[in-house]
Amino acid sequence: MAQSLATMRAAPSFDRRACSSLGASSRTAPATITAMRTTGRGGTRRSGPLRAAANDRERVPDQDKNSHYYSESAAGPPELDTLLDVYLAKTRANAAADAARSALEHDDPSTSSSPSSPSAAPNTGKVYLIGTGPGDPGLLTLKAYHLMQTADVVLYDRLVSPQILNLVSKDSTMLYVGKQSGYHTRTQDEIEAMMLAFAANGATIVRLKGGDPLVFGRGGEEMEALAANGHEVRIVPGITAAAGVGSELGIPLTHRGVATSVRLLTGHLREGAAAEASDGKGNGVGDAVDFAVTSADLDTTLVVYMGLGTLPRLAQKLVDSGFPMDTPAVAVERGTTVRERRVFSTIADLPESVVTCGLKSPTLLIVGATVRLSPWWPWRDEAGDAVSPPADSNTAVYDLQEGLPSEDTSAWFVENSGSLRKLREMGPGKKGEPAEEGDLSPAR
Ligand code: SAH
Repeated sequence: MAQSLATMRAAPSFDRRACSSLGASSRTAPATITAMRTTGRGGTRRSGPLRAAANDRERVPDQDKNSHYYSESAAGPPELDTLLDVYLAKTRANAAADAARSALEHDDPSTSSSPSSPSAAPNTGKVYLIGTGPGDPGLLTLKAYHLMQTADVVLYDRLVSPQILNLVSKDSTMLYVGKQSGYHTRTQDEIEAMMLAFAANGATIVRLKGGDPLVFGRGGEEMEALAANGHEVRIVPGITAAAGVGSELGIPLTHRGVATSVRLLTGHLREGAAAEASDGKGNGVGDAVDFAVTSADLDTTLVVYMGLGTLPRLAQKLVDSGFPMDTPAVAVERGTTVRERRVFSTIADLPESVVTCGLKSPTLLIVGATVRLSPWWPWRDEAGDAVSPPADSNTAVYDLQEGLPSEDTSAWFVENSGSLRKLREMGPGKKGEPAEEGDLSPAR
């Protein structure tokens, strides 16, 4: 089934029967292919500049009533002093209760007179930066799970799914510190200050991050800030979106004879990167798209994080630099979660297709010949072999699919600590300023 771009054939018409006979027979939970349609608008598909997408920014994500997960806005935690006071009061009360219980059990008055208090052991807190994977709780590591069950304080952001938050011990203090462009509950400095303050009071702190903490997650910066203040930080790797979303869809990021390497890219640079680059400072990268296209080649699978906003430019530049217009591409929204949506298309048509389908952040883009190896690639010939989408159309061709490509694991973990229930009981958060863009943590 593997084919290099050079051997791609012009596509005959889409054959649903051939597609399902190839992909669906061995799957337990086939996705619903909800649409295979063209936009109906005119335009030249195979020549001239690519059609510009209507939006050149990543759109704001949906409000989710049940948690801060992908929410448009959410109340941040109260001031640090208040948080610390509450945490210390709770910890002292727990310690006193433990000591009293122990004194009763052992009939030893000395144990009740000196309850251990976190403030008695300054600067000894442990800090864990934990990757929680792309969203499916089944993709959490056992190490992450154990630490989530034992943490005193948990700081989490927007990419941590409710099913995963629900696995945090109900005794942990949970603080939302998510951010998106236009609305930050906490600045990066404040997040680091919070972790330092709790660590200085002896707490075991778990910082939950989507995917892997050190892939476009700013985990490296938090690690440096804590280390500079004498706190050792332990990192728990997580499955990064490229691996989780790609593999679950059966897109091999590398494949013998098709892709010899993979590049993880950001479509979005941190503020000030362009100015620094033009002054010859920083790492010299001022434009994420230019950088992505430099050294892009047909033997490499490109995976773009935070890339919706710059997709039209990326697609145009890839084509200008020699990528065939029918290079396979897919955009996956909320990958590995029950609300996953994915749009298969070509690099030429993907920008318009994601706008037509209204894809929002978090969305991952995968571009390259390996995308066509996915059992979910919709265009097949009579023999069931993957082919390019019909080439004779003047409109953007795409296939929108909804639902998980594998089983829903959330039911596996229902009997748990219920910290999500606790969050719900705390009531809805205040409305923040509306976010304008869905970027989360630009990393360069
Ligand atoms: N540390 C994370 C990446 C954070 S940057 C990791 O290793 O995966 C945020 C970007 O990651 C999003 O804008 C999106 O491009 C991508 N992403 C993360 N989780 C995703 C998911 N479940 N589905 C699709 N894209 C995702």
